[in-house]
Amino acid sequence: MPAMTLDTLRDAAASGAVDTVLVCFIDMQGRLTGKRFHVGNFLSSGYEETHCCNYLLATDLEMTTPDGYKATSWRHGYGDYVMKPDLTTLRPMPWLDGTVMVLCDVLDHTTHAPVAHSPRAVLQRQIARLADLGFSPMMATELEFFLFADSYDDIRRNKFRDLQPISGYNEDYSIQQTTREEAVMRPIRNHLFAAGVPIENSKGEAETGQEELNIRYADAMSCCDHHTIAKQAIKDIAWAKGHAATFLPKWHRDKVGSAAHVHQSLWEDGANVFHDPDADMGMSDTMRAYMAGLIAHAPDYTVFLAPYVNSYKRFVAGTFAPTKTAWSVDNRTAGFRLVGANTKGIRVECRIPGSDINPYLACAAQIAAGIAGIEQGMKLDPPVGGDIYAAEVPEIPRNLRDAAETLRDSAMLRAAMGDDVVEHYVRCAEVEQEDFERAVTDYEIARGFERA
Ligand code: ADP
Repeated sequence: MPAMTLDTLRDAAASGAVDTVLVCFIDMQGRLTGKRFHVGNFLSSGYEETHCCNYLLATDLEMTTPDGYKATSWRHGYGDYVMKPDLTTLRPMPWLDGTVMVLCDVLDHTTHAPVAHSPRAVLQRQIARLADLGFSPMMATELEFFLFADSYDDIRRNKFRDLQPISGYNEDYSIQQTTREEAVMRPIRNHLFAAGVPIENSKGEAETGQEELNIRYADAMSCCDHHTIAKQAIKDIAWAKGHAATFLPKWHRDKVGSAAHVHQSLWEDGANVFHDPDADMGMSDTMRAYMAGLIAHAPDYTVFLAPYVNSYKRFVAGTFAPTKTAWSVDNRTAGFRLVGANTKGIRVECRIPGSDINPYLACAAQIAAGIAGIEQGMKLDPPVGGDIYAAEVPEIPRNLRDAAETLRDSAMLRAAMGDDVVEHYVRCAEVEQEDFERAVTDYEIARGFERA
């Protein structure tokens, strides 16, 4: 992590190396949202706090103002939130000239208390609950996405039709094809690394134009910050090179979808407490209980792993996108996979999340489920082998409406996150569902126009 402090920023401003500070918070969709400060203004006052309209945490992908949110509405006049920079997140954004960024916590305008439904606060609360048990969560999210030959503007002008992936064939682990994409992928890796995002590698994925970016695991909050900054860099750099990147989980009926698998382990005093060298497969009792909670409650938090109508289109048997709440040993058809058995790197990978997750919410909900497993001493069922698509094991909700209902009914998440937070995100899912129900899709027209 390149250390950047207010002092080093002052020096960089004085030398002319930096002129712009992106002051950002994380919105409900997991996007960087905020303002571009002149560095002089940031150094004189902006570093203490700035403000934003509170509709920004009660909106959708298109920035509308849907009704039904208790936290804010037209009736309450849409007031302000405080954006409080977390100066430990100050870092360069080397792919943008003269620019650095900082992430903010979102606070109530009058009381300065954290806004409970702001994504960083949702995660902070679960990290604190885990700290009370003596553990800290280490996590990694794998970013899958597609690159397209054309630019965002050309694609939008063409109404998102005839999309051309950047490559012509399945490029899983292909060095030949990924060489041709280095104009985009190399600056993504190197600029992110210089921004303190510990990139491990990138690789071609199992579809035309599909990429994966792996970032070294970190404490849960840093992991989510890395994920968010990486997504921004990928879109910025693809745009700058005249291409487009999408994190839509399923952009074409016949193409494989994109995931964001989440690896997790719990640590205490610098050691992975999921590892017990004397236990079967090296899995400690803590790991077993955490996994039992994670698996038993997967339906409760599916909406945080699959937050849009489109997210559920990815869950197709035979495509490595899992739908069953079972675990397996190094088997990619299960919702949960044991990785690094019998090693200090032992961890569980949740394979359900799509590339469109808000990582803060997805990680927070998984930690809450794991805590429930530990607190209740839940027992882990034996692993399931073979093709889990065909196994008789419970499933996650298969559409957004069911997932939102399951969240609404989750006593576990209500106790862990608070009723107001749960209801806020139930409403968020309902807004997505309601908007989709008003849409008339290309599919319906082509299918029924002449033949219905
Ligand atoms: P695979 O290719 O089998 O999915 P990788 O070796 O690429 O696995 O690791 C996937 C991710 O898991 C990486 O981002 C890595 O940093 C992360 N990881 C490694 N060890 C741990 C751990 N103990 N806890 C959480 N994540 C970890």
